[in-house]
Amino acid sequence: MGFAPGLVAALILLLGDGPPATRGAEVVLRGKVVTLAAAIKELGVDVKPDPDTTRGEAVLLGEDRAITPLFRDDASRALFLDERLRDRRVELRGRRFSGVPYLQVSSFRVENEGSWQTPEYFCSVCAITERYPKICPCCQGPMELRWRSEHR
Ligand SMILES: [Zn+2]
Repeated sequence: MGFAPGLVAALILLLGDGPPATRGAEVVLRGKVVTLAAAIKELGVDVKPDPDTTRGEAVLLGEDRAITPLFRDDASRALFLDERLRDRRVELRGRRFSGVPYLQVSSFRVENEGSWQTPEYFCSVCAITERYPKICPCCQGPMELRWRSEHR
């Protein structure tokens, strides 16, 4: 059960004279995560930035067709590293700061097999779960993408 679009719009409107810029405002944004290069191409923006800067940058291409860049950190890193999470419907929860175009992602869900699910990376040997793809910190083996239906 997601947020109603009206509530999302109200949250975004609150940014204008809402909380201090340092704290940010909670938002829920939907769309799909693509590389900046793909977003520019899809929108037909007439710019030619250096490809090596746009290929690796993940952005949200919103349902309103707006590009929102993402701070890359533990919470969002999977969207930068794992192509399987990109170019499909996604719901990002996070914070926006006045005057800052980047979204700080706190959690996200991806539409998978008809429902919103959270991706995670699992080592079946050690039963360890991580938020983004990496070598298992315990056995140094590979970790596999799996989907969790419940929101943590
Ligand atoms: Zn392991």
